Amino acid sequence: MQEQALCNAVPAHAPAACPMGGDAAVALSDAPTPTPTELDQAILESLRYRVGKNEAAAKPHDWFNAAVKALRDKVVDAWMDSTTRTYASGGKRVYYLSLEFLIGRLLRDALSNLGLTAEMEAALKSHGLDLTEIEELEPDAALGNGGLGRLAACFMESLATLDIPAYGYGIRYVNGMFRQRIKDGWQIELPETWLAHGNPWEFERRESNYFIGFGGEVVAEGDRAVWHPAEQVEATAVDTPVVGWRGKRVNTLRLWTASALDPIRLDAFNAGDHMGALSAQVRADSLVRVLYPADSNEAGQELRLRQEYFFTSASIQDIVRRHVQYQEDVRTLPEEAAIQLNDTHPAVAVAELMRLLIDDHGIEFDEALAITRGTIAYTNHTLLPEALETWPLPLFERLLPRHMQIIYAINSRVLKEAHKAGLEESAVAAISLIAEGGERRVRMANLAFTGAHSVNGVAALHTDLMKSTVFADLHRLYPDRINNKTNGVTPRRWLQQCNPGLTSLLCEAIGPGFLDDTTQLEKLDALADDAALQERAHLVKRQNKVALAAHITDLTGVRLDPDALFDVQIKRIHEYKRQLLNLVETVALYDQIRSHPERDWVPRVKIFGGKAAASYHNAKLVIKLAGDIARRVNADPSVGGLLKVVFVPNYNVSLAERIIPAADLSEQISTAGMEASGTGNMKFALNGALTIGTLDGANIEIKDRVGNANIQIFGLTADEVAEKRSGGYTPREVIEGNRELSQAVNSIASGVFSPDDPGRYADLMGGLYDHDWFMVAADFESYSEAQRAIDRRWLDQAGWRASALRNVAHVGWFSSDRTIGEYARDIWGVM
Ligand SMILES: *Cc1c(COP(=O)(O)O)cnc(C)c1O
Repeated sequence: MQEQALCNAVPAHAPAACPMGGDAAVALSDAPTPTPTELDQAILESLRYRVGKNEAAAKPHDWFNAAVKALRDKVVDAWMDSTTRTYASGGKRVYYLSLEFLIGRLLRDALSNLGLTAEMEAALKSHGLDLTEIEELEPDAALGNGGLGRLAACFMESLATLDIPAYGYGIRYVNGMFRQRIKDGWQIELPETWLAHGNPWEFERRESNYFIGFGGEVVAEGDRAVWHPAEQVEATAVDTPVVGWRGKRVNTLRLWTASALDPIRLDAFNAGDHMGALSAQVRADSLVRVLYPADSNEAGQELRLRQEYFFTSASIQDIVRRHVQYQEDVRTLPEEAAIQLNDTHPAVAVAELMRLLIDDHGIEFDEALAITRGTIAYTNHTLLPEALETWPLPLFERLLPRHMQIIYAINSRVLKEAHKAGLEESAVAAISLIAEGGERRVRMANLAFTGAHSVNGVAALHTDLMKSTVFADLHRLYPDRINNKTNGVTPRRWLQQCNPGLTSLLCEAIGPGFLDDTTQLEKLDALADDAALQERAHLVKRQNKVALAAHITDLTGVRLDPDALFDVQIKRIHEYKRQLLNLVETVALYDQIRSHPERDWVPRVKIFGGKAAASYHNAKLVIKLAGDIARRVNADPSVGGLLKVVFVPNYNVSLAERIIPAADLSEQISTAGMEASGTGNMKFALNGALTIGTLDGANIEIKDRVGNANIQIFGLTADEVAEKRSGGYTPREVIEGNRELSQAVNSIASGVFSPDDPGRYADLMGGLYDHDWFMVAADFESYSEAQRAIDRRWLDQAGWRASALRNVAHVGWFSSDRTIGEYARDIWGVM
């Protein structure tokens, strides 16, 4: 039984079996592991009674549904178990509130974590079906935008793995993040219809519903304030089970859906106003339609604030209801519940919890604030001033009049404390929850900071910068509040499931202990110079590259040489992430290869992927530029296949799972001081890619762990960037002083890559000359030298392969299990 459990730990598509080594084998849930025939029986029953088909009529999608439902039954058993245990033990629960959960597919995850991959594979095979093909039928749950949403998903998996009772709370978007299509090189946004075929994982909880009010007025009744909302919608819970590693615990991801109290006004409908009769339902629907509605107009802004309040209020009501139901006294909430705010999107939770405590439970203001602070903690994800959420005060007051009163009251308390602490007027103004001067706005970060007992950054540098920049004055007033929790990624999805070949090889080389404790990957260090191991790791990487190349050819028609260096930059397209630096260097390399064809160039494939926000003009132009460069370079016989460029459309979790195991080089080249942490950087290193990166975010901590010899660092530091920005930086001189750079910039600017529209990139390149806020020109030379250093490393294949193995060996610390362990101990007090 032990051996079986362990063997199941390794995905069955792995080419070689994992050797057995007793100690790491932790029993799965108590239910006996079904034999293939049992699972097969369950799938056939599920096909017949839940899907309503027999074998002869079943299409692949029917099999997918039947397989998920059969597997879901096993998940449900473990889920009930976990819930019963939590209620019995009365342990503290963790609540993770996030506007985004970038989950991706669940089938492989659930199979792997329950140790049922081999059984499922065999069961499907007996019907002539291939598990990998069935897995492909599952749509990505794209309920997130990028790193912040993926972090929430990794955290949910680690919470279950560490056996911590936890709920994720968010919105069940019907369309979520848009699907990206590339048409003539331009990004087109299409609605993601991930629910089109239903969602076999979820359970609607009709009984868990709450009313969410908007607008109206607050009237005094005696000494009580009573809010009479002008409008109400109903929030209903939809639950998805989240399985931890080895099925120890199954937690709940609870996403809210919205409906009108009065879905149709029959009188209006019968009077012929068919649309008007349904308008309340349409308004409710719009709350759960898309993630990040364009907020360039007022209606979009208001919708965004409504979404935030909608899901936050439903979640806080649910948390308080659960507490009061079992503990009776709402005052003990901080002992039973820890609420983590993933960025400021749910920051209104501070005011909402205060409102429930004061208005519904009759608690005095001071005590309510103490309870709120005892319960809530806040994670900051960005220092970009334009990304720190603020709301126009009139909008906030109109939509949430009672919350506005409470925010004023908190503010008056906080400002008194600031005065008492002797802070000067400018500091007091910076601490205020209301930005004065010009249009008055509510500062959500300050609300979250002052309403929480813990405020954490997501990497060491980022946390330091929080203390010295945006939150400097709040940090003076509350010096114990800011702490660091460096991000992590779940090694189940980002190593075991996405890279079964490497997982299997690691099992053989260092034993299976790393499956339960990634720090054991350190054992690999001693073996990194072993030629035989290097060769095997190389073959795994090559196999992953062959598979990726085939997929990219399917998607784009571009053919790739799997023996070239796969150089990858996949992430949201943003100026601070500097895809443009990479592209300008690509053009410079292209020029160099053509000028010096005799040199020993390393064949490279430049892989780009990522979505641009729909209204972000420069980001969309960067996508077009990547396509324009690709078209020209890939068709140029004079580079002789030494350089290929490809933009892979619709970057999402499933695509990341294919690309990362096949990467040789990981591009983490943000302007120093601007990437809070990054988590893509961790995934690549864990899969044996070398990083070329700036001293930014978690890159610094990756460098500290893998060592300078196994990473390629370049560019300005955060301090140097700040200094350059404060004056005396003239990018024009830098560009004109570097022949390669000026040639590359000028050729892009003059339309060499866009003969159909020669002026297309004139402004984009003009921006580099004139201000270059993101230091593309300033870092170019250092970056280009670093790239040539990468070439030299690659030419020494033994050295490269040793470095790749040492990256795997030393990044086990970046497991989200470690991160969640730190949150649990330092912030939530649950471990
Ligand atoms: C990990 C991940 C991210 C975050 O990548 P960064 O490079 O840290 O910005 C974004 N999107 C997806 C799909 C991911 O898997």
